[in-house]
Amino acid sequence: MAKYDYDLFVIGAGSGGVRAARLAAMSGAKVAVAEEHRVGGTCVIRGCVPKKFMVYASEVTHQLKTAKGFGWTIPEATFDWRTFREAKDVEIARLSGIYVANLTKAGAELVHARAVLKDAHTVEIVGKDMTVTADKILIATGGRPTVPQEVPGIEHVITSEEAFQLDKLPESILVVGAGYIAVEFAGIFAGLGVKTTLLYRGPNILRGFDDDVRTHLTREMERRGIRVVLGCQHEKIEKTGEGLVSHLNNGLTFTTDQIMFATGREPYVKGLGLENAGVELNEKGAIKVDAYSKTNVDNIWAVGDVTDRIALTPVAIREGAAFAETEFRNNPTTFDHEMVATAVFSQPEIGTVGLTEHDARLQYGEIDIYRAVFRPMKVTFYHGEEQTLMKLVVNAADQRLLGVHVVGPDAGEMIQMAAIAVKMGVTKQQWDSTCAVHPTAAEELVTMKEKYIPPNLGTAA
Ligand code: NDP
Repeated sequence: MAKYDYDLFVIGAGSGGVRAARLAAMSGAKVAVAEEHRVGGTCVIRGCVPKKFMVYASEVTHQLKTAKGFGWTIPEATFDWRTFREAKDVEIARLSGIYVANLTKAGAELVHARAVLKDAHTVEIVGKDMTVTADKILIATGGRPTVPQEVPGIEHVITSEEAFQLDKLPESILVVGAGYIAVEFAGIFAGLGVKTTLLYRGPNILRGFDDDVRTHLTREMERRGIRVVLGCQHEKIEKTGEGLVSHLNNGLTFTTDQIMFATGREPYVKGLGLENAGVELNEKGAIKVDAYSKTNVDNIWAVGDVTDRIALTPVAIREGAAFAETEFRNNPTTFDHEMVATAVFSQPEIGTVGLTEHDARLQYGEIDIYRAVFRPMKVTFYHGEEQTLMKLVVNAADQRLLGVHVVGPDAGEMIQMAAIAVKMGVTKQQWDSTCAVHPTAAEELVTMKEKYIPPNLGTAA
């Protein structure tokens, strides 16, 4: 008789957990996955996927505005949030169903309940009066939005989770924070006709991104009507008959219909019983793991946002796959967290891979910069003003591309392709030997011949 009920018990049916569970089950292991909400996790249910649908919906406004330049006459268009929301929810339900079907097809058992660790091999299935045992346990519970609880009136704000399910669109919104979620939602709301202000405590949005990217996106967001307020934060929030009043530390007040805080996400470990199994957390409250995603407990692993390495869906998937490959296919595998490309679905989009100019200078000393700021031909045709930014960061010593940064339409699509070459260690000469695809905006990436001398370096020289 088997020593445990399962070979593998996975807690959390998001991107990382589902991938690991499926691969393990397909290798013949007896696998169960517990999920307390809907199957699909943050990405499918309340993250990347519904967000992208909202981006698509909101981009239509821009397309309608520019249509006239191409000879179209379009009667005044209206947007119905409820119709969109229903369609979005139907599609999310369909995708969640596919996740369930794929798990079942692979032979994994789905447990619709919360799971809590009792010890390193025992899991309580909450509400079902049941405990099960497993040889190996994988924690893939993701993250949850976090807001500064110390701000009086913080209970009046929403996070991205509620933003997906609003009953109606507000007339005005204040989006707080300037990370991925804040800039994406600012673009969404503005596109859908909501008077939008982005408020950030620091001097420039998107800390950690290339400085040119940050400045360029700010300008383009302002061009699309988003008000960007920097260098201040909330002291309190008051609910009045006029709306929500934000009292800021610079003395300013704002009144808006809604306030959305996008001030980061924290690993979802609360009430998971980690202490019962002796699983250690790091200083950021995330589960501490090694390169194989193994925790300090020999039979417990963790993947995805709960480990706070790189909080991106494809990374969680690759970590989950590497775990399954190692533990159930006898093929020790780690995921390489270097040179992971990413897209921010702001409007316009950002696509980025590798080092920023600032980090490259710190790490490599002498670097070459190639940079193009231009109006794509589509924009010039309708006499628009939006500009695209493309930037290459090159190691001067060996001419290897250290970073590629794009802000403009389809930047996410472009960076996926660029990332292949950059990950392979392409040099600028090899990159430039690739013939342009014409007429595209992306061709600019392989036709930047002149080094860019930043103005401050230029004057020093
Ligand atoms: P981020 O960590 O990216 O950004 C948080 C923002 O909130 C920062 O601007 C931060 O400022 C600010 N902030 C933090 N605490 C406070 C505070 N107490 N008061 C005021 N401002 C504060 O988190 P997000 O929530 O935007 O996204 C979480 C993660 O989800 C991302 O890092 C990303 O990995 C992932 N994600 C990826 C997406 C994609 O791939 N397109 C889309 C959405 C999310 P400061 O910089 O000063 O610390």
